[in-house]
Parts: sequence; structure tokens; C-alpha cells
Amino acid sequence: MRTGVDRHYRGEIRDLQWLPPQVAKPAPADLSLPAMAASALNYLRGNPDPVRNYECKFSLGPLGIPAQVPLLPSNKYGFDPIALGDTDCRMDWQYPHMRAMAGEPQADAVEIGVRRRIQSYRHADGLLWMNPAAWAGTLDSPSVRAGIKHEWVSTWASGKWLISLAEEYERSRDTHLAQEARWIFQALAKLLSWDGPRAYLPYGVAPWRNGEWLHMRDSDKDRGWGGEHSHNYPFIVEPLTRYWECCGDADALVVARAVADGHLAGVQPDMDELRIDPVTGAFCKHVHLHTHEVWGVAHLGVVTGDARYLDWAERAYRFVLSQGTDFGWYPEYIPQHAYRTEICVVGDMTSIAACLARGGRPEYWDHVDRTVRNELRRSQFSRTPAFVALFRQIHQDKSRAAVDHALTELRKLEGGFVAQATFNDWVGYPDNPKLGTPGLYANGIQMMGCCPPEGMRGLWEAWQGIVEVHPAGVFVNLPFSRDHAAAQVTAFRPVDGGFMVEAKQGGDYFLRPPAWADRVAVNLRRGDKLVATVWGGPADAYLLCRAVRPGERLMLHWPVPQFTQVFAAQSVPGRNQSVTVKWLGNEVLSVEPRGQYLPMFGNPANA
Ligand SMILES: [Zn+2]
Repeated sequence: MRTGVDRHYRGEIRDLQWLPPQVAKPAPADLSLPAMAASALNYLRGNPDPVRNYECKFSLGPLGIPAQVPLLPSNKYGFDPIALGDTDCRMDWQYPHMRAMAGEPQADAVEIGVRRRIQSYRHADGLLWMNPAAWAGTLDSPSVRAGIKHEWVSTWASGKWLISLAEEYERSRDTHLAQEARWIFQALAKLLSWDGPRAYLPYGVAPWRNGEWLHMRDSDKDRGWGGEHSHNYPFIVEPLTRYWECCGDADALVVARAVADGHLAGVQPDMDELRIDPVTGAFCKHVHLHTHEVWGVAHLGVVTGDARYLDWAERAYRFVLSQGTDFGWYPEYIPQHAYRTEICVVGDMTSIAACLARGGRPEYWDHVDRTVRNELRRSQFSRTPAFVALFRQIHQDKSRAAVDHALTELRKLEGGFVAQATFNDWVGYPDNPKLGTPGLYANGIQMMGCCPPEGMRGLWEAWQGIVEVHPAGVFVNLPFSRDHAAAQVTAFRPVDGGFMVEAKQGGDYFLRPPAWADRVAVNLRRGDKLVATVWGGPADAYLLCRAVRPGERLMLHWPVPQFTQVFAAQSVPGRNQSVTVKWLGNEVLSVEPRGQYLPMFGNPANA
């Protein structure tokens, strides 16, 4: 029998029961996005080092003493040089977002310090120049070893800076910011190559300097991530689209379309198996370098209404989803040697899903819900009792004072995101060589600095999506609590099935139950009165309430499916690990195989 569940969750669905909604006395959900954002701010303020002019930390391994051991050797540009132009630019985006969510209007000295550092990368051409360690990834290639001695233009960093400036302009309306943003846009556009009407960057994210690209030759392709990244997608469509959205520069939208058309037509050379198959959405290798650009194409599809962009992005998204799970865990690599995620991918997938939902495919709001509610929530780092116990146990050979000091220092990393969890364990590298060995990959918990701010972007996407005001009315897309200017939303516990909306603004309201909800059993109350259900909005996915007055209270309820899902994980060829997930609606209760060290699901001590 069609249940409404097996269309939305892969694999085999067992022991399905529908629980009636708790209509009489629903309790508020314990998931608080503002609390997660407040914690994230702690990390954003704890990561940069004021003594090193707010240099950010990339190479973080919280089970090691010390927790930071630079992956590439320190040089005259930085102690942990991979952070330059990557970790810092990603963090710069998220300070204002996390402050907005947590209700903190003012930038603090750390945020200002990171911003000044990024401004110091700017050269007269408007672009950001820095040591290119983040894009080299290795010193194993002669061309990289020579190039890494200098500063180069990073299109990746410059694109991120373009978004930061554009969003700052949107908040402040300071015209200088719009001028500077246009300056960067024009400088980036000059680096594009053209194939008729289509544009591309010839070497993906490779740095550029005086007419040369720091790219790996074909023979170097397997050397570190730089070998791959210079044959992978660049990060350009989202910066141009977001710049257009905030600053209204129509020229940028023209160029964004030209680059996106280039992706759809596959004009960037030498991509081989990294190129996204336009029919199936499939590709190989590092996932984030793909999804970061796919996000922009999806966003462009929303703002232009051009379904070709949404379709292309949806196919790539679906391919990554097929290699991942339904609870927000997506693989770092396809194929990969072991089941590990990367939070950068999780952030990208959240953004792509939000774009697909906004592009008229609202069932993707459930993907945003599941990814944020499960993978992001359970990956946010804090010194849980289980973590502290493991930390003390593996450092038994050290003095109590040294261990206490290290644990105190780790407070600065709370609110960041564990980067590479397995299906159900923060510890992704248990024997490399053994837990507690200092080093990004050696200590056991990989927490590379790119990932925490990208996890924060996932939180921000969800936050932005909860309530949206459109010409047709007020849309409530997600069952997360938010006090929004148009409406206050109170989400109920997953077992209670529903949410309450207190209207602050008059007009038509559109309330979305999860896509798996049985439409006949969904019910809506206005005040205390049960009202007839009328469906409307995109894909008829919303309950429509007409002419709501400010102060009116709407309650949406749905029966909640409780079930067990069993599927074979795809991303490690030949292994086909069987994964068993117990669900309550969109919330994960437990995941098997359960981690041996710091399980994320089904373990209250580490929750
Ligand atoms: Zn990352």
C-alpha cells in the first residue's frame, strides 16, 4: 500500500505506524535554531587568533593536544596557511547571519578583525590576493612548491568576498560597498574565458597571477586536492547571482547566465569524470567543489525562473542524495574509501534544497528540515560528557593540568561543526594512528575550518526559509520555531505533529505540512475552530488560510509516521553497508551502525 512515506525515504520501510497528532496539548519542540546560532557565534569568535592578526584556524583536531596542527607547513604568510582566503572568507559571511539569528546586533572585535584581515588581501585590481595553500593542498608537486612561495589571486576568495560585500550593502545601503562589489565583479569577469556566448574559468578554483594559472598538469592530477580542484568547477555563479540580488547590477546576471550555460553545455576543458553528466547528474570525486557551484546554478534558476538551471541542479542534487542518506549525511567523495561526510557538502545540499523548494518544488523543504534537524544539529561540537570522558581516557599519560588546560581551550571551538562524521560517530578516524595523536586527520575527529561556517550557512538557509513573505501572502515552509516580523511560528515536538502560527500581519497564509503527511488527515484550526482544508500555493503543497487578521492563531496538525528504514549506502563501492534508521517523522531517533566512540544519534549522553 502507498503510505506517503516510501515516496520520500529510500530503501525498505518497516514497522510503520501512524501516530495521531497531539491536538489538545502539543508541547514546543526542543530544537532551537537561535540557540545553535548563539553557540556558532562562540566558535566564530573563538577560532581566529588575535595574536596572529585574526588568522583563522583550519587544521583542527579536537581530540589532539594541541587541537591545531597546521596540515601544510607554516610560512611567512600564515601559521595555518590553508585558512587564508578560505576559512576566513567563509567565516566572514556567517558572523552577521549568526548574530541576526541569535539577536546580537553588534559586531565584536574578532569579527571586525577578520574583516580587516580580508580587506588586507585586496590589491589595486579589486581582487583578493593571498598565499594559495588552500588551493594547492600539497607540496608534492614542483609547480605548486614554486607557486606557493607567492601571493596569488583567488577567484574562490574573491567570490566569497563579493557575497559578503553585497550582503553588507543590502543591510546598510552604503553605496561605497556597492561600488566595491561592482569593482570585484568586473575584475572577476575579466578572468573568464569565452566559448561563444558561454563563459568559464579554465582551471576551476586554481589561483591566478600575472596571466598564469596555478594549476596542476594532468600528470599531477592525483597529487592532493589541488590536483583535482584545478580541474573541478569554480565558485562563481552564486557570487554573481547574490551580487545581482543585493545590488541590482543587471550586468552580473548576464555573466552568471553565461557561466551557468557553460556548465550546462560542459565547455570547461579537462574535467573528465569531474564533469556533471547533464542527463544523470552524476560525477566523480570531491563533492563540495561540485555542490558549491551547483548551489549557484539552482539559485540562478530561482531568480530567472529558468527551469533548465533548476533541472540541472536538481539532477546533480539527486545524484549526491543517492550516494548519501535521507537524514542529511552526504559523502565527502564519490567514490570514497570510508563512509565520511563533509559539512561543507551538507551546507551546500541545504542551500540547493532551499533553492529547489523556492523554485516551485516545495517538497525539498523537507530535505532542508531533515538535514538541519539531524546531521547539522548532531554535528555541532561541544564538550559533551561523553567527549570529555573520552578525552580524559585517551590522554591518561599526560598531567591532569595539561588535560584540563586543553579542555578549557576547546571551549573556543564549541559551536563549530565536526567536519567528517561517519553515519553515527564524531570519530571518523579511530586508528590513524591512534586517538589523541595531534593532527587534523590523526586525532580522530576531523574538524577542518572550512566546514563550521558552511554548517552555519545551513542553519541560516533554514532560518530564512521558515517564514517567507510573497505577494500572494505569508508562507510558512518549515516546522521550526521563529519569531518573524510577519508571524510567530512555534514548532511542536516531532511526536506531536504540527506547528502554531500567530499572525502579525494580515493577509492570506500558506502553511506547509511535510510532504509525507496524509492529506485527508491533516487538520487546521483558526482560533479554536476546525476549518475546512483548502490546498494551494506551489505544487498545491500548502494549506491556504484566507484573510487572516493580525493576532489570529492558526494551528496545523498532521499524523506522524514512526518507522524503521533500511538501505544500502552507496558511496563506498563494493561495501554497500546496510544502514538502519529509526524515524519519527523527519527526526532521526537512532542510526545503526552506531559509532563506537561518540555516537550522535540514540545516545542521550552525547546529545
Ligand atoms: Zn569543509
